[in-house]
Amino acid sequence: MSKTHQYLFGPVPSRRLGRSLGVDLIPFKTCTMDCTYCQLGETTCTISERGDYVSMQDVLAELDGWRATDGAADHITLAGSGEPTLHTHFGDVFEWVKKNTSIHSVLLTNGTLLHDPEVRAGAALADKVKVTLSAWDEASFQQIHRPAQGITFDLLISGERVFREEYSGELSVEVFIVEGVNSQIYNVQKIVEVVESLNPDRIDINTAIRPPAVKGIRPATEDRLLALSEMFGPKANVAATFKKQGLQSMEISEDALMGLIKRHPATCEQLASEYNLPEDQMFKTLKQMVSSGLLREEKGGGVTYYFHRAD
Ligand code: SF4
Repeated sequence: MSKTHQYLFGPVPSRRLGRSLGVDLIPFKTCTMDCTYCQLGETTCTISERGDYVSMQDVLAELDGWRATDGAADHITLAGSGEPTLHTHFGDVFEWVKKNTSIHSVLLTNGTLLHDPEVRAGAALADKVKVTLSAWDEASFQQIHRPAQGITFDLLISGERVFREEYSGELSVEVFIVEGVNSQIYNVQKIVEVVESLNPDRIDINTAIRPPAVKGIRPATEDRLLALSEMFGPKANVAATFKKQGLQSMEISEDALMGLIKRHPATCEQLASEYNLPEDQMFKTLKQMVSSGLLREEKGGGVTYYFHRAD
C-alpha cells in the first residue's frame, strides 16, 4: 500500500490465505475477552456491548481508495486490534467485498457474540469464518480467556453450534494451546469432543509464538502441537508459523509492516518468516524504522521484539 491507512493493514503473506488484506474495525484491545495468550497484550476494554466503534463510512472509503490504487489481494480479512463482531455494522465490509471485488472474504472471531442472530447474519456474509475454541468447560474458559461479564462457555458453544447449522461457508476452528494449561492429553481430548460437535471444515492448532498478555504463559513446541493435532483427526493442521515453506517472498512496504506490527508485535525472525525474506534484509528495515521513530524495540526471553511506537 502506498499511503498510510487507518483501518487497513497488509496485505500480509499467509500460507493458507495468500496475500491477505486486513481490515480493523475496533479500537486497540477492545474485546469480549482478555485471553492470557493474547499477542496484543492485556485487553484494556473488556466489553460485550456492540456499537459503531469506528465510522463504517470511513472504512468503506478507505477500501474504495485501496481498490482504486493497489487493489490486489487473495483475501480480505476482518481481524486486528480486538473482536470485530463488536462493530454493529461489520457485515457491511463483506457486502462491500462481494459488490466490488471477486476477492474472498474472511472473518476471524472469538465466537462469543454468535449467540446474537444479528451477529450470525453479519458473519454469514463472509466466505470463510474462523472461530476460537480452546476450553472445554466454564472453569477452563474463565482461566484461559477471562471473558467480559455475562459471557459464558455455554453461551459461546451454543452460539457457535447454531452458526454452524446455519452457515454454508467454510468454518474453521482455532484451538490455541497454552503449555501446562490446556495441553494435557486428557484436557485436549475434551476439547476434541467439543470441536467435533461443531463439525468444522478445518481445525487450526495454534500456540503463543509471540509475547503473550500474561507473563509465564508458555507456548507448546512444534512437536507437541503436531502430536496434539493428530488427536483432532485429518481436518487438523498446525497453524503456528514456526517456519514457512512454499511461500512467495513479498516486498517490504513500511506502511504494511507498521500495520502488521501494530497488531502483532514480533521478532525479526518471525517477520522475515512472514514475508519469506532473508533475516538480514528484514533486520535492516526494522533498524531503519526504529531510527526514524516508527518502531521501538523491547528485549524479552533473550530475543528482541518490535512494537509500534505508540503501543
Ligand atoms: S486473543 Fe483475540 S479474543 Fe483473545 S483477547 Fe486477544 S483479540 Fe481478544
